[in-house]
Amino acid sequence: MALTGIEIYKKLPRTNCKECGFPTCLAFAMNLAAGKTELDLCPYVSEDAKANLQDAAAPPVRVVTIGTGDRSIKIGGETVMFRHEKTFVNKPAFAVLIDDRMDEGEVDGRLDKLEQFQYERVGLTFGPELVAIKETRGDPSRFEHLINKAKERNHYGLILMSTSPEILSAGLRICADSRPLLYAVTKENLDEVAGLARENSCPVAVRTESLDELSELTSKLIQLGMKEIVLDPGSRGIRKALEDQIIIRRAAVLNKYKHLGFPTITFPCEMTDDPMKEALIASIFIAKYAGIIVLSDLEGHSLFPLLLERLNIYTDPQRPMATPEGIYEIGGPDDNSPVLITSNFSLTYFIVSGEIETSRVPCYLLIKDTEGLSVMTAWAAGKFVAEEVAPFIKKCGIGEKVTHRKLIIPGYAAQISGELEEELPDWQIQIGPREASHLPAYLKMWKP
Ligand code: SF4
Repeated sequence: MALTGIEIYKKLPRTNCKECGFPTCLAFAMNLAAGKTELDLCPYVSEDAKANLQDAAAPPVRVVTIGTGDRSIKIGGETVMFRHEKTFVNKPAFAVLIDDRMDEGEVDGRLDKLEQFQYERVGLTFGPELVAIKETRGDPSRFEHLINKAKERNHYGLILMSTSPEILSAGLRICADSRPLLYAVTKENLDEVAGLARENSCPVAVRTESLDELSELTSKLIQLGMKEIVLDPGSRGIRKALEDQIIIRRAAVLNKYKHLGFPTITFPCEMTDDPMKEALIASIFIAKYAGIIVLSDLEGHSLFPLLLERLNIYTDPQRPMATPEGIYEIGGPDDNSPVLITSNFSLTYFIVSGEIETSRVPCYLLIKDTEGLSVMTAWAAGKFVAEEVAPFIKKCGIGEKVTHRKLIIPGYAAQISGELEEELPDWQIQIGPREASHLPAYLKMWKP
């Protein structure tokens, strides 16, 4: 049974030394209870407390890490059924499938797309994270060749797909240091593949024909000491596959059923030959409740909406997305360029900066920390008012970058202009348009 934050807190040293990165032991305990941090980050937990907390603090859906270093990804760690209850924690990873019947051109094309479809939005870079390499021909050298190719071309996480322990072992010889996911343990090969996973410290996926069998095999793996397990109940019809995802999540989160308390892997690529239908199925699994989604191919027009859906669902609903406070230079501004200011709500920043780029007028865009609130909300909350904006203008250093003293504030914040001029007597406050889309025309007319 998972412990509450308060129960965990009672077992911590309670010195508030901050070495874990949290301001207090209580904050650390609350985050630990929510599965958002790891016990190892506190160096002062006694061995007794550690033994006590390790299992109890684990989220009902265990975390599984695939890969190493910067490109490693975590899946699982979920604590709720619905995002609005708290937040979802680790977004599902997208994998592209490469199988050993594909010719070199096709393989190269998919690896190219993996690199190509990395997008930057709202200050984040996102795209597919994994390559699933599937053995179908029983040829270890072809399997090794594909793994080598994927390793050389990029540093994305790997899923080695074969039910043959010999083939998986051949693959591991060249990529065990990348900590791939081994797919799959089945009832026929459980001991051998579990042995490979333990020897190489890799996570494993279990594939079965039913949920009962899945629970039986994971219980055996848990007895063998395995902690990083990914579940595939084997269903490939949309309705059954969705039902299985929901049953697994409910069993883990609501019933604390440990044998199903692991993230899942799903295969839209095996559920249809129609690329559009495949994208729709993938979109269902983003919401409910895949840990990994394997796609047959990557196409920008279907991948991008899926990535945005994932971003929306896995954004913490209690914390608005925010851009760091500071001066953003757009288009190579000089000391005569316009200076604009807005709030640090990410969407505001990206819309405004996009319109400035469209205008082709080099500008300084000042982003004021408003705790992620939009201009109007921040004004109403007292975070985008003259007393807050003026000190920021004085200390941010914009005065050294421009020779003029003209500051363009958003049209929606026109009401602060008088007070701001009083707080900043050297500056002339200019009221910009209310809609960002009118910025290009406004900036083209602007004179220093
Ligand atoms: S490192 Fe440990 S003792 Fe220090 S604040 Fe964090 S939880 Fe408390």
